[in-house]
Amino acid sequence: MLVVMQAHATDEQVRAVCQRIESMGYRAHAMPGAQRTAIGITGNKGEVEPGTLEEMAGVQELIRVSKPYKLVSRDVKEDNTVIRFSGTEATLGGPGLAVIAGPCAIESREQAFLVAERVCQAGAQFFRGGAYKPRTSPYSFQGLEEEGLRILAEIRQQFGMKIVTEAIDNESLELVEEYADVIQIGARNMQNFSLLKHAGRAKKPVLLKRGMSATLEEFLMAAEYVMSEGNYNVALCERGVRTFADHTRNTLDLSVVPAVQRVSHLPILVDPSHGTGKRNKVTPLSRAAVAVGADGLMVEVHHQPDQALSDGMQSLYPDQFDELMAQVRQIAPVVGRTVPGIGAHAPVAQALRRQASATTPAAH
Ligand code: PEP
Ligand code: MN
Repeated sequence: MLVVMQAHATDEQVRAVCQRIESMGYRAHAMPGAQRTAIGITGNKGEVEPGTLEEMAGVQELIRVSKPYKLVSRDVKEDNTVIRFSGTEATLGGPGLAVIAGPCAIESREQAFLVAERVCQAGAQFFRGGAYKPRTSPYSFQGLEEEGLRILAEIRQQFGMKIVTEAIDNESLELVEEYADVIQIGARNMQNFSLLKHAGRAKKPVLLKRGMSATLEEFLMAAEYVMSEGNYNVALCERGVRTFADHTRNTLDLSVVPAVQRVSHLPILVDPSHGTGKRNKVTPLSRAAVAVGADGLMVEVHHQPDQALSDGMQSLYPDQFDELMAQVRQIAPVVGRTVPGIGAHAPVAQALRRQASATTPAAH
């Protein structure tokens, strides 16, 4: 059930409706939009008994939601969700394209800083790198854990990029929430409902990657778990699904981008690195992802991919990432998007840009 408020409803009227919903034993989720506020109702076992809600001041109508997901749906919020961060113009969602780049895993301070400098220079506003790695083999590198998070925090300090890193369980989630700007939930955990609920109680935005065999509905229901706990800052990320195709590691399902955008207000990004598993396919599919209307890209970059402790085969060399960004900057305006910088509170990044323009030969 959804309570649609009148366009001119006051905050007080919205609050009163929320209180009434809560007093009925349900949970109220007020979602303000450009035109009007809608209030989603969750926590009901069967049908919501509307009582006198419809008669309350400021209420326009009650709508029964037939889809299994509610809060992720455009029925509740028509306008696209835009996740903002302090001190930067970079967003997840909105007209600005989000570029998240960095190594698969944080391997050492030196490695992380070398890659960070290059991706920052190229224009990434978000830095990625796993401190906790969900690996197929227990004998593979599992990540530097809290030490990795400390390195990531230093990178934010130095370069002004916001930090995106994965939490693999409830324990790591608390630490990731403390150190990072965005909590990543990986493909393998997309249906770890206990972890999703914990992420829903966290105060930081969540980047939710699609499970490797998840349908659109399962993907959206996973986001619904996070939102149902009160965290509405959720961005989705397509990262390829399992198919019979064996020329790539996964099959990047770009059609899910417009499919998500049709039914949900949440941002949807694309990860062509895990989506293909092959370095030579990352740039072409990044172009395609931007063209199809994705809200951003997540790309793995390593200064020495052959020596990477994970996912070297799909990691771009920094020069290749420069080229990817140059191409993306050309495609973005065609689909009405910009590629924002990381903004005024990033003195080192600005210095890097100045340094880069000073060393770029003038065009004749
Ligand atoms: C990652 O982004 O580091 C990762 C492990 O991705 P996924 O969960 O999509 O496999
Ligand atoms: Mn990886």
